[in-house]
Amino acid sequence: MDMAVTKESGLAAGTGSKVRITRVETIPLRVLLTAPVKIASGAARPFVEVLLVRLHTNEGVVGIGETQAWRRQGSAETLASLTRVIEDHFTPHIIGQSPFAAASIMKALDQAIYHSYYAQAPISDALFDLQGKILGVPVYALLGGKCRDTVGGCAVLFIKPTLEETLEGAADFHRRGFRSFTVKVGLDLKADVANVRGIRERFGEDVIIRVDANAVMGFDDALKLLKRIEPYDIDAAEQLLPLHDIDGMAELARRTDIPIMTDECVATDHDLLHVIEKRAATVVQTKVAKNGGLWYSRKLWHIADAAGMRIYPGNHPCTSIATASVTHLAAAWPGPLLDGPFSAGICGGLAEDVVSDPLEVDGHLVKVPDKPGLGVTLDEEKIKRMRADL
Ligand SMILES: [Mg+2]
Repeated sequence: MDMAVTKESGLAAGTGSKVRITRVETIPLRVLLTAPVKIASGAARPFVEVLLVRLHTNEGVVGIGETQAWRRQGSAETLASLTRVIEDHFTPHIIGQSPFAAASIMKALDQAIYHSYYAQAPISDALFDLQGKILGVPVYALLGGKCRDTVGGCAVLFIKPTLEETLEGAADFHRRGFRSFTVKVGLDLKADVANVRGIRERFGEDVIIRVDANAVMGFDDALKLLKRIEPYDIDAAEQLLPLHDIDGMAELARRTDIPIMTDECVATDHDLLHVIEKRAATVVQTKVAKNGGLWYSRKLWHIADAAGMRIYPGNHPCTSIATASVTHLAAAWPGPLLDGPFSAGICGGLAEDVVSDPLEVDGHLVKVPDKPGLGVTLDEEKIKRMRADL
């Protein structure tokens, strides 16, 4: 790419008026998980449904972004509904636009379909990928520059039938260098307490333990759980209560020493403002799909930071593409971040990735890619094989 600055515009060649988006391609995938994941709500899942979007341009540069059809806990989307929203309602606002018109494109998408963050996410991130590729810079450079070389992830311990299996899973992560554990809870109080106690006793004081109930607990059970695990130095309790019960979360926060974290109940900036106003949590988790990609996640991080909240970079189980999005966002973040579950998919969660150049992982650390854009390339053979019928 010729990066010479043109006399007419003052812009590097290709950055301004010439590049246009010519096609929006949706790629629905069924990506196998290493083992079925079980959380407190719903049946165990053997795979995750991923929707990739490729934005093609008249100059041959292609941007990619990812979302997932999670279908539970705040997500009502399916692969088919995400595809229809993007193809029928978003594409007319994207075709013919410059990849550098992200602000007006994202505004148009938001106005086209109410509360469509899961569908907006892959467009947001494919626009950033395109911008980076056209300019020849990594996405973190578009977000303010690199503040760290690696981003730390946590181990997610899904619900297992026995304490031994939970501890075995934790030991495997510990051997690989993970020191932060998110323990899925919410189905069986006794088992939850035994898991937390078992992990603390087995790995000692140097590991960080958080619990996540995925929004299934009633107030009484949630308070009981918090009281019973208080002695084990819990760093945060994530989304114990249903999405709507912000007052309940605020009440829990007043009655326990364990910091309360929001996940499913924060989809938008208004949701986060509501949580802050109620003092219902002091930690927030964002996800590329849930929160509308980098475009909106970054805004949530700024709001959280202004409110003195801690930030927990997350994702549903996902491929290297959505993992790369969070990696760049985290790379360009100058403040502290918790080791979050943003990389759980590529750190053993997925049986197979969809890229030919997976992100480099060393233990729990994901290396920030320095290649242009998000820095990952789709493997055509794999996406053909994983393609889902709609
Ligand atoms: Mg969660």
